[in-house]
Parts: sequence; C-alpha cells; structure tokens
Amino acid sequence: MVDQRQGPDRFGVEFKCGTAGHGLDALDFLTYPTLGKPKDKTTLMAKRKSIEERLRDYEHQYRELAVTLAATGYVWNGTVVRQMLTCGKKRCACHQDERRRHGPYAYWSTKVKGRTVSRLLNPAEANLYEEWIRNRRMLEKIQRRMLALSKKVALLMLRRQKSDEQTSGDR
Ligand SMILES: [Zn+2]
Repeated sequence: MVDQRQGPDRFGVEFKCGTAGHGLDALDFLTYPTLGKPKDKTTLMAKRKSIEERLRDYEHQYRELAVTLAATGYVWNGTVVRQMLTCGKKRCACHQDERRRHGPYAYWSTKVKGRTVSRLLNPAEANLYEEWIRNRRMLEKIQRRMLALSKKVALLMLRRQKSDEQTSGDR
C-alpha cells in the first residue's frame, strides 16, 4: 500500500535532521522531514490539515487491522506438509510407480534451536494444526502491516510536532 500523498512537501525545504532527540533512538532509521519557514498562517494551516487527514486515515486503517487481529483464532508454530511415501516392503508397487505410493501422510515440522524437527500427524491433528498455522500467518501479516503503518504515523507525528514548535517560535 503506497500513499500517493507522501511526496516531498509542496512548500518548504526538506532536509535531514542530524540529531534525533532523546527517546527517538529506535527511530534513527527514519529521516525527519521538517517544514520550511511558512510563508503565512494560511499555508501552514493547509499543511497542518493534510497531516491531520493522513493521520486519521492511518488511524482508521490501524483500527481495522486491530479488529481483524482480535477475531483471529488460535495459532500454531511451524508448517504442515503432506507427502506420498514408499513403504518398507520391497515388492510393494509403491517402489515402481509414483502413483502407487501411500498417503498422503501429514508431517508437522518446525525449527528447534536451528534444527528442523518433524513429526507424523494423524488426520485430526493435521487439520487442526493447518488451520491454526493459517491463523498464525494472518497474524504475522497483520503485524507487518501494523509496523508499516506505525512507521508512517511516527513520521507525521514528528513532523507535526516540529511544525508546532516553529509556529510558537514565530510569535
Ligand atoms: Zn508400499
């Protein structure tokens, strides 16, 4: 999702602020676009309005994600893979013909301390874990979107704060 409105400022000069204030260390990867000296109060008000509008949009999107998140069911680690297998009987047809292999057998696998561990599942387990794994993927997707939105919101809030400081400085 790309916000078309997030271009450079229509007025004012963008430059990078070298020193982030206290408590902003975690946001060091962000640049801090700052408003140039506003020409008059009207342009500043217009600028401010667009920031407020965008913040409202992001807030709305964020709330929708939170609603989806709240409705997400139980979660499960790892992945379930279904495989056709050959058996131990040397003369069984499964060894000659791929289509005669047995299964599908469902395996659950996950990483434990960097090593992949697998376990054979019965059909009930496989169905349950597959559903919960889908839930977990949804949850992770929502989390990524929330992080991306929060990053946009942080930029706007810091910009708004900066413009507030400038307004009070102009008095
Ligand atoms: Zn066989």
